[in-house]
Amino acid sequence: MNTQLHTRLAEVDARIAEAVRAAGRAPESVTRIVVTKFHPAQLVRDLYELGVRDVGENRQQELTQKRADVAATDLRWHAIGQVQTNKARAVRASADVVHCVDRVRLANSLHAAATDESTLDVLVQLNLTDDPARGGVHLGELDQLVEHVLTLSSLNLRGLMAVAPLPEEEAAASAFDRLARAAERVRAIAPEANWLSAGMSHDFVEAVNVGATHLRIGSAITGPRPQQG
Ligand SMILES: *Cc1c(COP(=O)(O)O)cnc(C)c1O
Repeated sequence: MNTQLHTRLAEVDARIAEAVRAAGRAPESVTRIVVTKFHPAQLVRDLYELGVRDVGENRQQELTQKRADVAATDLRWHAIGQVQTNKARAVRASADVVHCVDRVRLANSLHAAATDESTLDVLVQLNLTDDPARGGVHLGELDQLVEHVLTLSSLNLRGLMAVAPLPEEEAAASAFDRLARAAERVRAIAPEANWLSAGMSHDFVEAVNVGATHLRIGSAITGPRPQQG
């Protein structure tokens, strides 16, 4: 067994538990997703043996391939990276949750890719920066996108997702405050869409403090990522 992995996972989980306790929140209100992008499928198997049941990938091909390789039926795969519209069908086939719905066309394509009566859990991604390349809908178009997703019967809108700006752009805590207010707006439109996906290796404590329900943690648990292929 991979003891370093075990140690880092336990350390991160202890820090999450402490942050959740300090925030006066219930332990079960937070799901820790381990981001396994660029790592081999074996790492996912090792994590599975350590009890991890939620993993995140940011590229469709890697997601599709690893899901097939690992083949564990009770592992939930979270698609967390920008999705090209022409990859929507493949993403729908491999992801249990899609965190990065940031435009009407992508929502429509994910909906059109439904092959049976099942619904796909999705989150709308908010861009907390002014840079369109980051992915995510800008705040001014958030309500419209939320309302559109709600019209698509094969999508189950669960909430809001965001990536904090880089530290030199803005402190995570203040960006997360804006995110928390946006999440309130989403809940005002769709009360059941109460997931908030935020928080990475360096800012998950701040994310817990603003009410994140899904933390996407990579390197703090997996160690440094191999070079992007
Ligand atoms: C890579 C990635 C993460 C995890 O990043 P770490 O800093 O390694 O924890 C979280 N969210 C998204 C969208 C990512 O692409």
